[in-house]
Amino acid sequence: MKKAIILITLCLTAASCSERCFLVETESFDDKGGWVADHQAFEKIGSSYLLAHGAGVPVEDATTTVNVPGPGKYHVYASTYNWTSPWYDGKGPGAFQIEVDGNTLPTVLGTTGNCWEWQYAGCVEFRSETAKLALKDLKGFDGRVDAIFFSKREKAPSADYMSLDGKRRKWTGKTEIKNEPKADLVVIGGGIAGCSTALTAARYGLNVVLIDNQPWLGGNAQLGVTLDGVGWMNLYPKLGRLTCEVAGIHPDRKDDKATYWYTDYNGIGGIGYNAYEPKYTVPVQDARSSDLLDAERRLKDSGEEITDARELEMLKQEYIRKNTSANREKLLRDAGVRVFQNIQVYKVEKEGTKISKVIGKDLNTGELYVFRGTLFSDCTGDGTVGYLAGADFAIGREAKSFANEPSAPDEPDQKKMGASLFWYAFPRTEPGVFPKPEEIPWAMQLDADYHFKRWRSEWWWETGLELDNAQEAELVRDNFLRAVYGNWAYVKNFVPEYADYRLDYVQHIGMKRESRRLLGDIILSESDVLAKKEFPDASFTSTWTMDVHFARPENSARFPGWEWITYCTNEEPIARVFKYDIPYRCLYSRNIDNLFVGGRCMSVTHMALGTVRVQFTLGMGGEVIGMAAKICHDHGSFPRSVYTDHLDELKDCMTTGIPGTL
Ligand SMILES: Cc1cc2nc3c(=O)[nH]c(=O)nc-3n(C[C@H](O)[C@H](O)[C@H](O)COP(=O)(O)OP(=O)(O)OC[C@H]3O[C@@H](n4cnc5c(N)ncnc54)[C@H](O)[C@@H]3O)c2cc1C
Repeated sequence: MKKAIILITLCLTAASCSERCFLVETESFDDKGGWVADHQAFEKIGSSYLLAHGAGVPVEDATTTVNVPGPGKYHVYASTYNWTSPWYDGKGPGAFQIEVDGNTLPTVLGTTGNCWEWQYAGCVEFRSETAKLALKDLKGFDGRVDAIFFSKREKAPSADYMSLDGKRRKWTGKTEIKNEPKADLVVIGGGIAGCSTALTAARYGLNVVLIDNQPWLGGNAQLGVTLDGVGWMNLYPKLGRLTCEVAGIHPDRKDDKATYWYTDYNGIGGIGYNAYEPKYTVPVQDARSSDLLDAERRLKDSGEEITDARELEMLKQEYIRKNTSANREKLLRDAGVRVFQNIQVYKVEKEGTKISKVIGKDLNTGELYVFRGTLFSDCTGDGTVGYLAGADFAIGREAKSFANEPSAPDEPDQKKMGASLFWYAFPRTEPGVFPKPEEIPWAMQLDADYHFKRWRSEWWWETGLELDNAQEAELVRDNFLRAVYGNWAYVKNFVPEYADYRLDYVQHIGMKRESRRLLGDIILSESDVLAKKEFPDASFTSTWTMDVHFARPENSARFPGWEWITYCTNEEPIARVFKYDIPYRCLYSRNIDNLFVGGRCMSVTHMALGTVRVQFTLGMGGEVIGMAAKICHDHGSFPRSVYTDHLDELKDCMTTGIPGTL
């Protein structure tokens, strides 16, 4: 009887709540206008959000139509963040307003506070069953809105964002959970490592799922990022051929006329993209990631003709990247891989020391997916799946005492390589204005003594060198924006040759170099690499030097803790090494039995990451994981057993190569 009364009370509460309040996730707006979706605060707020990323020019309204649960007066709250607050006490530049049925609510939001919070926008009266909403950007300087909450009570949702997961779905009506059929291998992360892993396993006949949180496949492989590392020094020559295919490169083509290069430059080689006609050429407009063509769309809108060779090159690179991504997707799907894009994996369930499922959220719709599997491979770069599962991990630099590494510091610290964003500016007939440094006091303040006369960034524009690039991805990106805007404010206004330039493109998703590293049965170190230590399970070959980055001292002096200009080991007295073989035991977790660890979160020290982290090497690591997954599948066993019981089979696979590969 008592149970029945409680149940009735709960039902009444739920019913009355759904009439009293509702939530609109901005990322599911019908038309995003000039706003872009951003998932970099997911680890803080459990959601993606819309960003008014206009490089100082207010972006077009995002609009949508919503169903209103019942007529009446509603209080309106926006989930937003005054993003410059970590550095600047005054009003921030992320100003926006909300429009409801054509009426703009008077409160300007996004300019105060110092964390993600629900800001009160005002009150509205709904008379009909639907309402039109618009987000109105006021500055073009990265205002952001995660969700809009309408409530008949004057009460905002909890400030404890991570506790809101279930409520968000109830308030938006997205309560359905999509249960995907169980896979032999679930790969999380669609960078070079994840794509190579998934494709290899699928070509061996495994039932494979690949999940990525971006609209394109390739992860870090974006503008200006090539596929470094070479295959011709491989211990197992057949490794790397599938990685070439994934990257859109024919492994055998080496003629001078080809648009790629394959050199022996002090032992370091590289292969550029666009190397051969990919197996499939997918019309660019059919690919998923419309935001890759932002730059081109903006140019068309402005009616300008593209004549600058540098700009043509930039656009060409965008097309190539988009086509490569579409090509990858087609290769994977043709091999039978179930590919899920725009899905953030954020929860893990375990049975004992094995992962049984990972749970992902669709970043556009908020829908939940459950992916069950026998084996999992964390190729997220951030080691997120391992982290959520309680896998042992490392972050930052190990002390010298850890592995006797000559370049390690005496004490461990949080220093690491950071993240970069690509940006460029071109001369324009209508170049517009950009604020002077004093007009944007929240940006880095550059002056005649210290600024960079440049039309684009390079790899050495890099920030987040002491931050957690996984959990603080938004902060790292925001710091980078402060640097780009601050430098441009000086260059555009005070360097005459740049007066006619316009800041046309600034990426908004950071390209990360280093986050968590998940620990395996071997943690490869600089000492192993320098000694070219021979391991019985030596598998894929690294041909890149010890390439770690450091903050430039003069940049540190001006922006301590928030550095954004770096240099690499070439300028340091660090020993070089060009060829060594990486053991298989770096490719699985030492304490989560069914978890492979691929790509830049594999089991290495900070120093060794500097050499394994290039794309060709990591792609080959993915191939080895795919082979090991096949062996596990054949024997009903788990990653460690491939070393302890089936190493000869792995060697056979590496020797004969992957079926159906170029
Ligand atoms: C600016 C820059 C320039 C570089 N230049 C070069 C170069 O010229 N040549 C070269 O060879 N290498 C270069 N590198 C290094 C190289 O690009 C990377 O080390 C490599 O691409 C990493 O591949 P990955 O697959 O391990 O990870 P990533 O490329 O980081 O891919 C991981 C993927 O997982 C996704 N993901 C993360 N978390 C989740 C989650 N929870 N749920 C779902 N998906 C998730 C990410 O969005 C991403 O798509 C460069 C790196 C940077 C940052």
